[in-house]
Amino acid sequence: MSLKKILTIAGSDTSAGAGMQADLKTFQEYNTYGMVALTAVVAMDPETWGHDVTPLPIELLDKQIKTALSIGPDAIKTGMLGTEEIIQRAAKAFEDSDAAYFVVDPVMVCKGEDEVLNPGNTDAMIKYLLPLATIVTPNLFEAGQLSGLGKLTTIEQMKEAAEIIHQRGAKHVIIKGGKALESDKALDLYYDGDNYTLLTTDKFQSSYNHGAGCTFAAATTANLALGKSPREAVIAAKGFVASAIKHGWKMNEFVGPVQHGAYNNVEKIEVTTKEV
Ligand code: ADP
Repeated sequence: MSLKKILTIAGSDTSAGAGMQADLKTFQEYNTYGMVALTAVVAMDPETWGHDVTPLPIELLDKQIKTALSIGPDAIKTGMLGTEEIIQRAAKAFEDSDAAYFVVDPVMVCKGEDEVLNPGNTDAMIKYLLPLATIVTPNLFEAGQLSGLGKLTTIEQMKEAAEIIHQRGAKHVIIKGGKALESDKALDLYYDGDNYTLLTTDKFQSSYNHGAGCTFAAATTANLALGKSPREAVIAAKGFVASAIKHGWKMNEFVGPVQHGAYNNVEKIEVTTKEV
């Protein structure tokens, strides 16, 4: 089988647990060929770990997308986009490509920062990205925003949100309960427009989980590119990220990234599924 090519349109996390670094590491774990169109560079203050986000000029993003599309990605993933203009560019990149899959990770806040990157972005994601998305991967907060339902606290509310997000055009929706949902398990809800499936693993330590969301979406994209169905792709991705979280590590007093290679090199966590 020929090598599958994946483009991520995302930001650079200098600490390299999240962002395009997480994407590339994850793509590599699946033996796919990762490419990047960079939207912004995030550096951290070593004293406080405060995030410093520098957007790149839009012309530079355009050039990168042009380069990557000429190489012919089989799948495209989005990460931190940051502005409405970039959101539109990401949508257009997929439309201009021959990629079969578009995975939208609707990143709204940088971990550790509470501030929503830009509230207008949510509307732009709904308008430009959801109608094209093969799979959208919101966490609990993002699903509340994309559905307009606000704070979600139960599986029933997650189902309602998934249905609205699906109606807004995303073909498949996975809402990550993750560490935000009150439960002793890590629960994610998958919806394909007909059926709801609950994906479950044990909940592991959550101090060193920086990059979990990016890694999950990247693993989903790699699995799609390799020919798995959307349902199979999210189940595989959840096992991959659960292993990465369980073996997350302390980088410094502020942050600890997931271990992207843990699934292949340390331990494979099993995922259980149940129709709900
Ligand atoms: P974050 O927003 O914290 O980056 P997400 O909520 O996006 O993380 O979750 C990414 C994936 O990791 C989801 O499949 C979620 O269920 C899983 N996950 C998050 N926290 C944990 C944990 N403590 N233990 C096991 N799985 C987790």
